[in-house]
Amino acid sequence: MPGTSSVDALREIGLAHGLDRVGVTSAEPFASTLGDLEDRRERGLSADMQFTYRNPGRSTDPARTLEGVRSLVVGARAYPPPPGAGRNDGGRPRARVAAYAVDDHYAALRIGLDAIARQLVAAGHRARVLLDDNALVDRAAAHRAGLGWFGKNANLLIDGLGSWVVLGSVLTDASLAPADAPMPDGCGGCTRCLDGCPTGAIVAPGVVDARRCLAWLLQARGTFPAEHRIALGDRIYGCDECQEVCPPSRRAVRTGGLDPSPASPASTGPTLDVVDLLTLDDDRLLAEVGRWYIADRDPDVVRRNALIVLANTASLPLAAPLESVLITYLGHPSPLLRSHAVWAARRLGRDDLLGRVRADTDHQVRLELARPVAARQGSSTPASSPVGAPPR
Ligand code: SF4
Repeated sequence: MPGTSSVDALREIGLAHGLDRVGVTSAEPFASTLGDLEDRRERGLSADMQFTYRNPGRSTDPARTLEGVRSLVVGARAYPPPPGAGRNDGGRPRARVAAYAVDDHYAALRIGLDAIARQLVAAGHRARVLLDDNALVDRAAAHRAGLGWFGKNANLLIDGLGSWVVLGSVLTDASLAPADAPMPDGCGGCTRCLDGCPTGAIVAPGVVDARRCLAWLLQARGTFPAEHRIALGDRIYGCDECQEVCPPSRRAVRTGGLDPSPASPASTGPTLDVVDLLTLDDDRLLAEVGRWYIADRDPDVVRRNALIVLANTASLPLAAPLESVLITYLGHPSPLLRSHAVWAARRLGRDDLLGRVRADTDHQVRLELARPVAARQGSSTPASSPVGAPPR
């Protein structure tokens, strides 16, 4: 249909190219979202997250990205969560990857949005695709385009798909009439995500405190907060908990509304071998987790997370190869990794491995030595008290 840019035609093209939902909205600035972003940044709820917080004025005003923009065509691409996988493989612990990060779902989304953009350009309009980009608050665009409602877990929830979706938009100077009104709230009296978040990070309906959100803490640099390490469990990247407990998202999985697509070469798989993560060199480790957002692309952020997963999930008594990895990290040149290895050893009830690190002069390491740690059940020292002098 060359030259056609009616909403129905664009929707048909998007759906034919793999999108699961397509909606249209105006390109007016998202004023209330701007207020929310600024308010949360001021209250410290965004921690040191950048993304759309870096420049809220830009990410809530499509005209700052495409001059003369009049409409947004918003697409959603669903991804099914991977089936539960065994998380301890013959004594080698495995770390869990959140569903959205298992594969490059944005590649499939881009195919659909690019097809829509090509059609608009063929009809004589300008068009720019934005996805996984801090230049636009994609959930606000999808909400106003009528694709779904804002859940109390701050995700966009779509009838039949839940929140298992990635979102993106085509910005265009074509004037397209919005076809659907924003959807009313569908959460009702449900509070399962608020109650189910492992760290209580959903501090009010729709408001997530990044300082407690495991998904953010796994990406952030520096010391992983000690008070959230046990709650981290076996997660190495991302957290699906507020989706897994959510009735509309569970229903979407149960009723088969989410079509599995074959894994691409970019797929990490739903779990990764913890020992591999702790023994690969920098280049191979970063290649293994290639598309993930990691602060400063620093592989030690992944190793830090892997040490916590090791401590939380390794079978006890600790097998010799795992003990040997832990000993290596207790002598690692990085204080960040040494300090997390100290916590891991103590969580595993293996204070006997601390050896020379007890005399470590690094402040971070000394803090870990001074901190009481609840050793796991089944370890030889069920309650571990401070083992070093307090930090100087
Ligand atoms: Fe809404 Fe309940 Fe889902 Fe939370 S768990 S997003 S309250 S439906």
